[in-house]
Amino acid sequence: MGYNIAIDGPAGAGKSTIAKQVAQRKGYIYVDTGAMYRGLAVHFLKNHIQPEDQAGIIRACKDASVTIGYADGQQQVYLNGENITGMLREEAVGDMASKSSPIPEVREKLLALQRTLAKEKDVVMDGRDIGTNILPEADVKVYLTASVETRAKRRYDELTAKGVSCSMEQIAADIKKRDHRDMTRDTAPLRQAEDAVLIDSSAMTIEEVTEEILKLCR
Ligand code: C5P
Repeated sequence: MGYNIAIDGPAGAGKSTIAKQVAQRKGYIYVDTGAMYRGLAVHFLKNHIQPEDQAGIIRACKDASVTIGYADGQQQVYLNGENITGMLREEAVGDMASKSSPIPEVREKLLALQRTLAKEKDVVMDGRDIGTNILPEADVKVYLTASVETRAKRRYDELTAKGVSCSMEQIAADIKKRDHRDMTRDTAPLRQAEDAVLIDSSAMTIEEVTEEILKLCR
């Protein structure tokens, strides 16, 4: 069994930034499970399936194979052998991932891949249900959150830095919608595991949060 650090939390809490830092400092592998849901979402979009078409999504799962690899230390996602990492951050992909992830067949498809990685390697894995469902025996569990305002502001800054014009109100509304979907779904909803340490990063720097998590590790 590898040494497993699980980081869960809502959209935009900074999980991937922090998880990458922790992984780098410990020399562990960073596993971004959201990217796997996004990988499946690309498959559904390529097949012109609507997010509301649950039966179509379940059918399409059968001929999708999502795998991951690493290039220069960065996680790469492959869909049926094709590297689709560059497509994962698109808005439509995030939306499809959020809408298809409540479907049990979708989650089942990725469960074994996530557990196998954690069994074979020392990992920092981030997502929504890692501490509660995927790795209930993880060595360290963190629930990383931040206020909606902080998360919206971070996303806004990220997008405007890329030259994308956007509205802070719209981003905050999307974040709230996504949180609601993730927290209220029947299968593996987002919640803090009983033995997870809560970290609210609203008034913390990346370095402070990273240090806080490193203190919890062996
Ligand atoms: O974290 P990220 O925004 O990339 O995740 C995309 C979507 O995948 C989330 O909105 C969530 O619905 C879903 N997800 C999940 N379980 C995980 C990781 C992500 O349901 N472990």
